[in-house]
Amino acid sequence: MTSVYDERPWLASYTSDQAPDVDVEFDDALAMVRATVASRGTSPALTYFDGGLSWSQLDEQSTALAAGLLEHGFARGDRLAVYLQNVPQFVVAMVATWKAGGIMVSVNPMSRERELRYQLTDSGAKVLVCLESLWEGVGRTVVGSGDTDVTLVLTTSELEHQTRADERLFAGMTKQVPHDTTDLATLITAHDGETVPEVAYGIDDVAFLTYTSGTTGTPKGAMNTHGNVCFTAQVYRDFVGVGGAGSVWGIAPLFHITGLIGHVGVSLLSGAPLVLTYRFEPQVALDSLREHRPTFTIGAITVFIALMNAPGFAKDDFSSLEWVYSGGAAIAPSTANAFLAATGMPVHNAYGLTETTSPMTATPRGADSPVDPASGAFSVGVPVNNTIVRILDEEGAPVPLGEIGEICAQGPQVVLGYWGKPEETRHALPERVLHSGDVGFMTPEGWVFIVDRKKDMINASGYKVWPREVEDVLYEHPAVREAAVVGVADEYRGETVKAFVSFKPGLSATEDELIAHCKERMAAYKYPRSVDVVDELPKTVTGKILRRELRE
Ligand code: AMP
Repeated sequence: MTSVYDERPWLASYTSDQAPDVDVEFDDALAMVRATVASRGTSPALTYFDGGLSWSQLDEQSTALAAGLLEHGFARGDRLAVYLQNVPQFVVAMVATWKAGGIMVSVNPMSRERELRYQLTDSGAKVLVCLESLWEGVGRTVVGSGDTDVTLVLTTSELEHQTRADERLFAGMTKQVPHDTTDLATLITAHDGETVPEVAYGIDDVAFLTYTSGTTGTPKGAMNTHGNVCFTAQVYRDFVGVGGAGSVWGIAPLFHITGLIGHVGVSLLSGAPLVLTYRFEPQVALDSLREHRPTFTIGAITVFIALMNAPGFAKDDFSSLEWVYSGGAAIAPSTANAFLAATGMPVHNAYGLTETTSPMTATPRGADSPVDPASGAFSVGVPVNNTIVRILDEEGAPVPLGEIGEICAQGPQVVLGYWGKPEETRHALPERVLHSGDVGFMTPEGWVFIVDRKKDMINASGYKVWPREVEDVLYEHPAVREAAVVGVADEYRGETVKAFVSFKPGLSATEDELIAHCKERMAAYKYPRSVDVVDELPKTVTGKILRRELRE
């Protein structure tokens, strides 16, 4: 295998890469699944409360669904959007999409109408797989409006793969197939036992579109390829460490790249069963931990804080876990120490973006991430295998080790680009080198530290909020003349969303009204938690709002 250094000799000016280059076992995520199904057969693939699916059942159900999709005219390269919580059908739909030759689009189940509409129209999805409750709440309005290309809606119930209804999550819920959709389980049963023509993928064929606002604030679909998926699944298995006899505790949302690869991808490659609990609820998660004794997980640090503070939590609860990784957001050293005291485990850190299909750096398992004495920040780890991380200056030239610049990366996890957005692709991914928008430095030993951000993103517990999106919604309010949104420090969420507005002459609104206006129109983690009214927003001479000044 040629080294990435051979292709880009200028990148070799550093000597700090820790992890050796490895051969990537698969280029094709579907071939990877086939191999696991063949070796694991009837052993469990997915656990969902007291139900779940074996590898053979996952294979059979995904083939039946693929047959159903093909019958509905789904063709090579078509997009299927998945708008689900962490339920087994998520994985069935993912594998079925690949078997039918398609690309999966993952939609945050917290999305409201404007967010779902954007993603469906931008991706041109033909099929929507949707929870019954989300169809009733949001999906029907969006698809019913006729703005999208969706011709087939498959609804599924969260109660499908379990029999012991959990009062804390499913109180009063019954399976009720909406009249204007097709029931996913019925379609699968109707095609039971059918076969589909075998599909093969190459390294640069797109497997998923995962939506992010990247570094510029415009939402876009990152094209995670089959090569990206196979490589990052292998990183989780080998670098981060999911043992052959292990199992994965699926507490991060599956729609996000962390869950897609750090839960589903690694399970599909290693055969480690994946434990799912619909959505994260601390007591439900703890029950599943005690019952299923998973060995690995990755999640945002706030999830671990919530677990540590859950009534009845005991150190022993974490004893089955071999490695716990935190990703998606910074960890304060005080939190890491509290975590160590409560669980007996050091925090392992993993850093990546949607555009790197999950990790580009991680703490090698068993190692302690160093702390930067100047900023007090924990290192986000060292570059994972086959990956070159470089700190570049404004002109794109590498800065000396230890100096601050933009964190950039090249490796088999970097996405192909953004769906239908060549200009944005050139900006963030020139020559497929990712420019992260994160500012930091690297030590001679290869430890990477994040100290700042070039992009306007707000990171609320690992959920990313872009000021522009919230500002657009505020501008839709009739009284708002100007709006600016910033992130402010928050003890629990790391950062939270704050808005500043000024009003049109003679008009006004209360803080509660403005918050309610936003809450109705966007996912719950995005709306501003406070709004300050000002006469005028601070601006540059060219009229650009000075967000940094507002933050300060
Ligand atoms: P996303 O595309 O949602 O995965 O968000 C990627 C962004 O999350 C990165 O650009 C970082 O700003 C932030 N991030 C991810 N992992 C970490 C980490 N371990 N520590 C600090 N920030 C992180």
